[in-house]
Amino acid sequence: MHELTITQNMLDIVLEQAEKAEAREVGKINLVIGEMTGVVKECVQFYFGFLSQGTLAEGATLSFIMTPTKARCRVCDKLFELKEFDWACPYCGGKEMEIVAGKELFVESIEVE
Ligand SMILES: [Zn+2]
Repeated sequence: MHELTITQNMLDIVLEQAEKAEAREVGKINLVIGEMTGVVKECVQFYFGFLSQGTLAEGATLSFIMTPTKARCRVCDKLFELKEFDWACPYCGGKEMEIVAGKELFVESIEVE
């Protein structure tokens, strides 16, 4: 997938924040990733390992917060967790829905020293 670009963008944000905070090093990075993005944690971890070399974020721990895919039924207006391959509302069986969560991808916070 597009983990390399994602990791690079994430690192840019982290370094910008760390510089603003006049940090000596970044200890931990908390990332929120929606299940629907299909981003593989192991890939991000891997790319981060070499992209962060020589930066303030080198050696930082990555913490992943995975958010489940949620949808709102357009028929009965109920909110539910969307399971893979099961694109129907569990309440009314409706097939028309709006994805309301699961596409997130952002740096939630960083911990610096
Ligand atoms: Zn419904």
